[in-house]
Amino acid sequence: MYSERGIVGSKTEVASLDRKRINDTLDKHLVRSSPSTSRTVNGKDFSALVGKQQPLDHKDQANHNASNEESETDSEESDVSGSDGDDTSWISWFCNLRGNEFFCEVEDDYIQDDFNLCGLSGQVPYYDYALDLILDVESSHGDVFTEEQNELIESAAEMLYGLIHARYVLTSKGMAAMLEKYKNYDFGRCPRVYCCGQPCLPVGQSDIPRSSTVKIYCPRCDDIYYPRSKYQSNIDGAYFGTTLPHLFLMTYGHLKPQKASQSYVPRVFGFKVHKP
Ligand SMILES: [Zn+2]
Repeated sequence: MYSERGIVGSKTEVASLDRKRINDTLDKHLVRSSPSTSRTVNGKDFSALVGKQQPLDHKDQANHNASNEESETDSEESDVSGSDGDDTSWISWFCNLRGNEFFCEVEDDYIQDDFNLCGLSGQVPYYDYALDLILDVESSHGDVFTEEQNELIESAAEMLYGLIHARYVLTSKGMAAMLEKYKNYDFGRCPRVYCCGQPCLPVGQSDIPRSSTVKIYCPRCDDIYYPRSKYQSNIDGAYFGTTLPHLFLMTYGHLKPQKASQSYVPRVFGFKVHKP
């Protein structure tokens, strides 16, 4: 499973964090502790969003995953080994986790600039601890956390990194990093036959966290699809945002493919099926 990393400076180590489990813990925490952590995001109550919309999406995902499970068993990369120890930064550890292939590595300089993080402290619980964790900063607070608190901080760090990532990929450096991944087919290819294996880009259906999971956008057929891997399917779409693929193709105009001209025609014994 995942490699083990503790909160820097704390005595308890978080072992084998499971994304679903920590997200559930975070959900419970956010719902339980409302209204104190209940925040208004774009006019919507954050805790209400967590409570109501997340299960819908999970259900949606569960159906999708059930049908998808078979096709991906052969394509999954092996688990990240836990032997890389302390040489790896939290960011590169996180980006190398199974399912996190869509994320690029955000530069430390970008995260250290408070201007870039404006407004995020109100959206992420345990913000200061989460930020220290992301930047591998030795905790100055000297606090010792329980295992549950560690999980919450890990989960908060993931959310914070995602929200920073959504901003970073719209900068020129971030977009260049995504270009490298696009050229590598890291975001997968369009499943539509007449798109002929067109590489896709990640996209969110909402910029509000916990509204829906990440999808892939095909610039040839102009449509969105579920990512092929069930691990990728669990990533929040807000960590990529609604703007990325479109700004990307405006920036790198030469990568914009011609629209798909062919489309599938249903036939019965060779005759086109008439639509009523
Ligand atoms: Zn397509």
